[in-house]
Amino acid sequence: MKVAVPKETRSGELRVALVPLGVTALVKSGLQVTVEAGAGAASGASDDDYRAAGATVVSSAAEALAGAGIVLRVNPPSLADPDEVSGIERGAILVSFLSPLTNPELVRRLADGGITGISMELVPRITRAQSMDALSSQATVAGYKAVLLAAGHLPKLLPMFTTAAGTIRPAKALVLGAGVAGLQAIATARRLGAIVEAFDVRPAVKEQVESLGAKFLEAEADVTAEGEGGYAKELSEEQHKKELELIAGAVVDTDIVITTAQIPGRDAPLLITEEMVRSMRPGSVIVDLASESGGNCEVTKHGETVVSHGVQVIGPINLPASIPVHASQMYSKNITTLLAEFVGKEGEVALEFENDVIGPSTVTHGGEVTNERVRDALGS
Ligand code: NAD
Repeated sequence: MKVAVPKETRSGELRVALVPLGVTALVKSGLQVTVEAGAGAASGASDDDYRAAGATVVSSAAEALAGAGIVLRVNPPSLADPDEVSGIERGAILVSFLSPLTNPELVRRLADGGITGISMELVPRITRAQSMDALSSQATVAGYKAVLLAAGHLPKLLPMFTTAAGTIRPAKALVLGAGVAGLQAIATARRLGAIVEAFDVRPAVKEQVESLGAKFLEAEADVTAEGEGGYAKELSEEQHKKELELIAGAVVDTDIVITTAQIPGRDAPLLITEEMVRSMRPGSVIVDLASESGGNCEVTKHGETVVSHGVQVIGPINLPASIPVHASQMYSKNITTLLAEFVGKEGEVALEFENDVIGPSTVTHGGEVTNERVRDALGS
């Protein structure tokens, strides 16, 4: 069975779906891997590295896709270039981030093209599937990079310095939303010497926050909202008001705020109002990791850095791509572990929809949209 790894085409994307180490693993399990020339260049893997790992390198995406039974990507095929979907053979399996709940047109095209779409976003977050969880691996990178971005924009040092030229007080960071990205942001800010506070509506994370050396903000009222599968759910209006009061009290003397709060299937909750931004010290920095789903801060603009009341508010696009070597390495590991769920020892493919990872993450198969959540989202 041929596995194709086309070069990513999304603007600014530097990651690749499979690194040479992943090629070695797949070749060992009886698959033939074909990589488009240059696919790994931005993530530190040359065509020669791929060849040395046992892959064939071809000069175009069309050549890579021809005859491939499995296609590996990071980003969904672009609809702007019809060849990205139509180049995939009928009956092939596409494994990629697919944004299936918000990208109905792509889902339809995959179904019409007889392509089996496996969505990395829908890999269930069960203990057994942790090593296949690309949302987590990429959020880890984003959380880390968010702090570096903030530190780079802050007109201050982060750690405490005791020098002959005087003592510098450590910077203060606040992390809102202590999921995968938030916990990594806390750890990174602590490593850089900042004093860190954090808040999340899931009370279970308090212990994790404290174990990283940060202070968990305690609300006087009940501001907890635990949803299904370890995710948060939306707060009531009254609880949301209480949360805003808690955050308003914390941001006034904070230098860096990293916001990561998300609720699956909904717009990101508003946690920082413009009024709160105004209350912050000029020069402070907010990095809003929820900017793609509307932002946690009222003044965030996705893809831009705005200065509001002297505060720099950053709404970054695709942060994992800014650390492509390790983001690709982790994504590649997620994908090769996922492939082991349906590729046998001799390279034979057997998709079993009763499988607790493959079933929920398969979006299209045999010309149909197979995933109930996606069907509901598409209204069909
Ligand atoms: P996410 O990106 O959906 O949300 C980020 C964080 O925002 C979450 O911690 C959430 O509780 C928080 N949040 C939502 N609304 C908020 C609000 N109003 N105020 C403050 N915080 C708010 O979540 P994620 O990081 O992808 O994962 C969240 C959780 O999912 C994990 O911590 C874990 O419990 C579970 N998970 C399980 C596994 C696994 O077992 N394999 C893997 C990854 C994640």
